[in-house]
Amino acid sequence: MTSQRARDRLATKLKEEGIRDQRVIDVIRNTPRHHFIDQALHSRAYENTALPIGHGQTISQPWVVARMTEALLEFGVPQKVLEIGTGSGYQAVVLAQLVPQVYTVERIEELLRQARRRFRQLGLSNIRSRHDDGKLGWPDEAPFDAIILTAAGDAIPHAVLDQLSPTGVLVAPVGSPSNQMLIRMRGDGQGDFIQEELAAVSFVPLLGGIG
Ligand code: SAH
Repeated sequence: MTSQRARDRLATKLKEEGIRDQRVIDVIRNTPRHHFIDQALHSRAYENTALPIGHGQTISQPWVVARMTEALLEFGVPQKVLEIGTGSGYQAVVLAQLVPQVYTVERIEELLRQARRRFRQLGLSNIRSRHDDGKLGWPDEAPFDAIILTAAGDAIPHAVLDQLSPTGVLVAPVGSPSNQMLIRMRGDGQGDFIQEELAAVSFVPLLGGIG
């Protein structure tokens, strides 16, 4: 159930459902998603669904991870990417195989501890992580060429948007649990943003403070 066949099936499904970036499909095919969830759920690791990771949080659906990742990469490979909401660490690990440097922030310490262990086990040394309220971004490391939020708020926090480079790309779910859209914002270099709606999605909420 965690076999190469299950992973290949997932890759085929992503393609059927409109994911076009072959780099992203290949990385998802080769990333052991079962390492990011509890053993009791291993048989479902390569299903195209979100799964619980404890603390009321979820590892995102693979299609959503793929869509967000390809949306970030579409205009060129960003050098420095900030993720808000490390969770299991899966999205960070997918990104770290495609871009030079990933910074990820999580508010629940226990989830971050487990994610860090996975980064080490997978030998990924280009992920830096931080226990903090991601609504503040990571000011000391700004600006970022790309920012991805994996929890949904009513709007993109100002501090986070301020840390996007003038021509950067940001992908995030925005809205209430019952009415959420995945949006992409692209800086035009002059301080304005071009905003697009990519898909209807369902993410856990972006909360304030640290857990
Ligand atoms: N990217 C994750 C998805 C995790 S779910 C993965 O691949 O598994 C969203 C995560 O965002 C949860 O772990 C939640 O604790 C975290 N989160 C919510 N609000 C946050 C905030 N203000 N700062 C940092 N993390 C936050």
